[in-house]
This record gives sequence, C-alpha cells and structure tokens, in this order.
Amino acid sequence: INAETLKSRFVKRNKSCFACAVACGKISVVKSATYGEFTVEGPEYETLFAFGSLCGNDDLESIIKANEICDRLGMDTISAGNAIAFAMYCYEKGIITQEDTEGMELKFGNGQAIITMLEKIAYRKGFGNVLAEGVKRAAEIIGRGAESVAIHVKGLEPPGYDPRGLKGVALAYAVSCRGACHLRHMAYRPNLVGQRPFGGGTINRLSYEGQAEMVKELEDFHVIVDCMVLCKFVCLPIIGPILWDELTKLYSIITGIEVSKESLVKTASHIQTIVREFNLREGLSKKDDTLPQRFFDEELKTGASKGEKVQREEFEKMLNEYYKLRGFDEVITW
Ligand code: SF4
Repeated sequence: INAETLKSRFVKRNKSCFACAVACGKISVVKSATYGEFTVEGPEYETLFAFGSLCGNDDLESIIKANEICDRLGMDTISAGNAIAFAMYCYEKGIITQEDTEGMELKFGNGQAIITMLEKIAYRKGFGNVLAEGVKRAAEIIGRGAESVAIHVKGLEPPGYDPRGLKGVALAYAVSCRGACHLRHMAYRPNLVGQRPFGGGTINRLSYEGQAEMVKELEDFHVIVDCMVLCKFVCLPIIGPILWDELTKLYSIITGIEVSKESLVKTASHIQTIVREFNLREGLSKKDDTLPQRFFDEELKTGASKGEKVQREEFEKMLNEYYKLRGFDEVITW
C-alpha cells in the first residue's frame, strides 16, 4: 500500500481545487472482480493508513472501496478506519466474539470484513450501530475492558502519526481542543523532518525538549490559517509557501489593515483561550489533556521508532511547559 503501486494500478489523473497549482487530489479508477467498477477521488495518506496499515490490510482494492463508501455515505475515513481497527483488536483479544459481530470474522487483514462493517456502520445495522458511535462511546457500550484498549483523545480517533515516535505530536494530540487531530497543529511535519517549523534550527522527534514551544507556535499559526479559510496544504510548516510573513501580507491585502506577526499571535492566543473556556464549560478540563494509556505502556515493536513509548513523567513536564507558555494557569480556572 504505497504511492508507487497506487499510481501504477489505479490513479488516472490529478485533480485540483479551483485555480490551485498544487493539484494534490487524485482520481482513481478501480475495476475489481470483488468490488466492481467505480471511480473515486483518493485515496490519500490518512485513508491508506486507516483502512490499510491500521487494519493490517494490504488489499488496495478494499482500501479504495472503503474510501468510496465513506465519501458516498458521509463518513470520515480516519474515524471509520479507527473504529473498525478497534473492533478487530477487541475481536482478536476476545473482548468481542462472533456473537457480537453476527458471525463475522473481524480479524486484522480481512479487507472484505472492513467493507461489510462500513456499510453496517453507515446504516446503523447490527454491531455497526455500536461502532457508528465512534471508538470512545463504542468502548463504553461494549464494556468488558474495551475502554482500557480504546485509542482516542477526547473522543476523537487519531490520524496516521503514532505519538510514541513523535513527541511533539504526543503533546499536540493531548492539548488539542478537539482531541487527537493533526490539522490543528501539523506537528508531525517538523517532527518528521527534524526542523523547527518557522526556522531556528533542528528538533529531535524522540526528545521532549522544545516540543511545547513548537506546538504552541504551530497552533497559533494554524488557528489564523483556519480563520482565513486557507488550505492547509499551502501553509505547510517549514516549506509553506505561506508562512508567517505571507500570512501577514495576505491579511493586509484582503482587509486593508496592516498587521504584524506579533499581533496575529496575540489574536491566535486569544482564540485558543476562548476555545479552552468553551471546552471547560462543556465539561472537558485538564484531566482530558492526555493520551490513551496504551501509548504510555506499550512500546513500538518495529520500525524507525522501535522501543519508543511516551514516558509519563516527561509528558507531564511537556504539558506543564505548554500551559505556562499559553498562560492558561493565570487566566483559566481549571
Ligand atoms: S493544495 Fe489545497 S487547494 Fe490545492 S488542490 Fe490540494 S486541497 Fe485543493
């Protein structure tokens, strides 16, 4: 399940949003003995992750079909893939059985089971009705220890960046107001590239040093990007092309008001505080700024981050550093 195979077997052409020179979209055509013939936009990275590696599934046709079903029936591929992978984990651990799944062998790697379960989720049929609630609530409904193995932050299932090998992402998932989201910060980019997002040297993805400062600046930048309704893919940390300087120029061109980076950061910080206060009012507080226990307990078994997990003490230090930088302890009554 890599770009080369995808391109050689399925991608027919690029697709662009209006007037964008990047044209990051892909149109894929599938002619499958199992899933029939269909055309779909994608799959992109997160979909390949969610229905591919996360579900132990290397069948590209089923991944693209899952993409098509999600698009057509209005489901998020990251959350849907996570819900099915969670069910597969529960099945293999004996937390759920074929009695729960109406006889379905919900094992990792079963591409056809993914497709069947996706349809059940969309139409809230059988066990699909439970998974349609998302991982957090599904775990609560299942019980039998499912909550302790469920992977989510504040009820949101994570995208394809494992925080055990990216310590900035670990902090960013934990503090993000909507949970394990990558778009509020895009901390995975500087962590993966090993460079600070807006200049100023290097950053080590496996170290806890400097991550709080980086996450704060990334959040501030991206909240302004969101307010200006800009595409994230043209505001990429490190390479831009739109970074702080361009953002201030764009703001001035559109509004006629001259702004500096400092004034935008001040506005961004204000927005972050208001969003925090909204969450507090709705019952989410400091205790929710954390990660699933498994990221603290279970080391990665293979790959470039083999042996890594999130160290609780270091994580707490990073968290406190972040609160201090945000000034939350002074302005928010937790
Ligand atoms: S970079 Fe953004 S605006 Fe351009 S085609 Fe991709 S999603 Fe659309």
